[in-house]
Parts: sequence; C-alpha cells; structure tokens
Amino acid sequence: MPKDKTSNYSRLGYFLSEFGDEVFLIDASILFCKLCECKVNSDKKFNVTQHLKTEKHLKPIKREENKIEKKQQLLTNISQKSTFNIDLCKTLISTNIPLNKLSKVKFRQFLEKYTKNPIPDESTLRKLYVEDIYNETIEKIRNKVSNNRIWVSIDETTDVEKRFIANVIIGTLDIEHSGSILASMRS
Ligand SMILES: [Zn+2]
Repeated sequence: MPKDKTSNYSRLGYFLSEFGDEVFLIDASILFCKLCECKVNSDKKFNVTQHLKTEKHLKPIKREENKIEKKQQLLTNISQKSTFNIDLCKTLISTNIPLNKLSKVKFRQFLEKYTKNPIPDESTLRKLYVEDIYNETIEKIRNKVSNNRIWVSIDETTDVEKRFIANVIIGTLDIEHSGSILASMRS
C-alpha cells in the first residue's frame, strides 16, 4: 500500500470519481462520507465498497428513495384524476347535494347534456375524490386558524334515519373585526 502523500491523494481522488462527490469528500487526506458523516477507511478499495454496503450508509439512501417514490405516486395519483370530477365533487359537497343524486337518471342526463363530460358514479367520487377534497379543506382551515384563538359550536340533532348528527362550526376570534367562520361539518 503506497504511503506517500501524492499517491494517497490520487487514490482518494479515484474513490471520489468512482463513487461520486455527492457521497464522499476528501478532507485533510481523509475520505469522509457525507451521508453518514463519518471517516471511511480508505486503505483499500475493498474498505470503501464495504462501507457502501453497511446498514448505516444504506439507511439514508433508502429513506430518500422512499420519499421520491411517494412523491411520484402522489403526482401520478393527481394527474390521473380528472379536473371535472374534482370540481363536480367539490360543487356537490359544498352545496349539500348528496353524491348519490348522481345515480338519478334525470340529473345525470342534464349534466351530461350540458357539460359534454362523462359523469362519474357516486362510488368513484367516494373512492377517489372525497378524501383529497377533505384533506384540502382541513389544510385550508388549519392555515386560516394558524395561531388565532377560535370558538367552536357543536349542535346535536338527528337525521331522517334517526342517526345522531353533530353539526360543528368553528371560527376565529379577532380583536379588530369580526372573525371568519371556517367550517360547518357533520359527522
Ligand atoms: Zn456512508
């Protein structure tokens, strides 16, 4: 094993070009792994390749890969969803029109005739769209509330099928002017 400085540098330089400068850096004739934030034994190439296989080194890489994979899934999820269906679902929910009205022939025909769009089934909206809209709405409410003080009002009632329903409404409390009412939810 060569011990003189020049060949040490050239060996480290070789490792750097071989394994990438996003993984390693050379610091005072030491090979340093950026991912593990530790010194790597660089006497032999074998030592370096061994380090690349250690669990400590692989963990952050896997975490990063998972993140990218999840992001891509989310993107394909979004791109596969139709804007028309998103808007239709939002409109129905925000105007208190039950999604099952889409199964009424007259209503479907009307929508199809004037929108020229294929009308999704109620189950399609429930499976693929409602959750996204719910999450988006909750996120909006969280952003609006942020650090403000809030008031909450809950009113219990029963629906036509005698199920207990709680209507929840929340708003922010402002000193200067009346606060905004953020949501009315049922569960
Ligand atoms: Zn490492």
